[in-house]
Amino acid sequence: MAPVMEGDLIRQDASTLSAALAAGEVTSQEVTQACLDRISQVDNDVHAFLYVDSDAAMATARDIDQRRAAGEELGPLAGIPLALKDVLTMRGVPTTCGSRILEGWRPPYDSTIVERLRAADVVVLGKTNMDEFAMGSSTEHSGYGPTRNPWDLERIPGGSGGGSAAALAAFEAPLAIGTDTGGSIRQPASVTGTVGVKPTYGAVSRYGLVALASSLDQAGPCARTVMDAAMLHEVMAGYDPRDSTSINAPVPDVVAAARNADVRGMRIGLVRELGGEGYQAGVREQFDNAVHVLTDLGAEVVEVSCPHFDYALGAYYLILPSEASSNLARFDGMRYGLRAGDDGSASVEEVMARTREEGFGAEVKRRIMLGTYALSSGYYDAYYGQAQKVRTLISRDFAEAFDQVDVLISPTTPTTAFKIGEKVDDPLAMYLNDIATIPVNLAGNCAMSVPIGLASEDGLPVGLQIMAPAQGDDRLYRVGAALEQALLDKRGHALIEEVPSL
Ligand code: GLN
Repeated sequence: MAPVMEGDLIRQDASTLSAALAAGEVTSQEVTQACLDRISQVDNDVHAFLYVDSDAAMATARDIDQRRAAGEELGPLAGIPLALKDVLTMRGVPTTCGSRILEGWRPPYDSTIVERLRAADVVVLGKTNMDEFAMGSSTEHSGYGPTRNPWDLERIPGGSGGGSAAALAAFEAPLAIGTDTGGSIRQPASVTGTVGVKPTYGAVSRYGLVALASSLDQAGPCARTVMDAAMLHEVMAGYDPRDSTSINAPVPDVVAAARNADVRGMRIGLVRELGGEGYQAGVREQFDNAVHVLTDLGAEVVEVSCPHFDYALGAYYLILPSEASSNLARFDGMRYGLRAGDDGSASVEEVMARTREEGFGAEVKRRIMLGTYALSSGYYDAYYGQAQKVRTLISRDFAEAFDQVDVLISPTTPTTAFKIGEKVDDPLAMYLNDIATIPVNLAGNCAMSVPIGLASEDGLPVGLQIMAPAQGDDRLYRVGAALEQALLDKRGHALIEEVPSL
């Protein structure tokens, strides 16, 4: 029988590795060691990881290999290495959220996601870099230095989950986990040529996910293929009584949807308000090509208007800072991580103020101030209250659109990866990266970014965003996998194979 796997171990996707592991062609220890070696080789340059625990990863891999050898029934992702965004707790493992204020904090408990990964026998390699408390679109706001984009080390890998996306694109891990409050899974996926999914709000438990904006936060899968993302989605999602917004209903069958990808007869809506002016020419060109591919596959593509999307960014940058300013009040030097100025004579208030002054970076402080202002008495209705009304209008736009079409599409980001340093001192320019991803978070439905090609002017990856109604996550996988397969057939190889070697 022909082997399941050909070529370099680190370049395999999770589905192939899973089949090879089951067939006994390779062991989890070999796969894990290959990832760890790759991390040693390239991560000085890429800086995707904040923390790697080689011993723990190898011990998990060894245990899984032994159980497999003993004939134990193991899950589909058993023995596969994964990179975890540093915003999720894992018992005893440093969790910084990219912030100096949490330096040295080791949580005493597992997030529900980590519990599920353990139950699925996934091998966690370590924690990935991110913008501080997930505020940003470039990973430059990390308190531990930026991550670099494997396609071009002078460029950003997106944010806030740039570490997870870069780990995939640099072949340091076949799977990763991200969180998406305004685009932090999809935007990094788009600019690194990888796949990222923001599941329906409430689909994946937020227990043990350090909160940024609780009404928007959602964790999701990051992978190099749509099928791999589906397999990880299936492991992560499901009801959890410890998260009060968790959905108590069956998870849509995303793996079956990715397997039976067929868009014939599907109605796909092109969002008029996303993708026009302000979008890079090469991004629009690749997007138009992808629309042709979808039409050739038998989908019916129509234009749809979502008029209130123009106000999404403004509403988001009131709602997010408001919720963040209240969530981040808990970091006061008393309970977690850093404590500054505690010289024995300082008052509690002085220690709290010094700790927050030293521990938080500029972007976090900016948002705490914005949010505190938006929530202040006398301004609450004019800012926070008004933004919530816009949010309702955006949800209605989606509802009306989904009466006409099965999914909506747009470019995921207005441009390809920009240069490190280019936007870091210009918050508005940075915020504009999220123009196309934010509406979905505000409405609570789901979306995926899938790579569609390279922009002609800079040769960098472009992503297409697919948006579906709440609990319609399977539609994302159906369309994403069909598009991925058609583009693969055209190109002859996966786009990710074109990452320059590091
Ligand atoms: N870039 C967005 C922001 O800065 C998205 C954040 C996120 O999804 N965590 O808020």
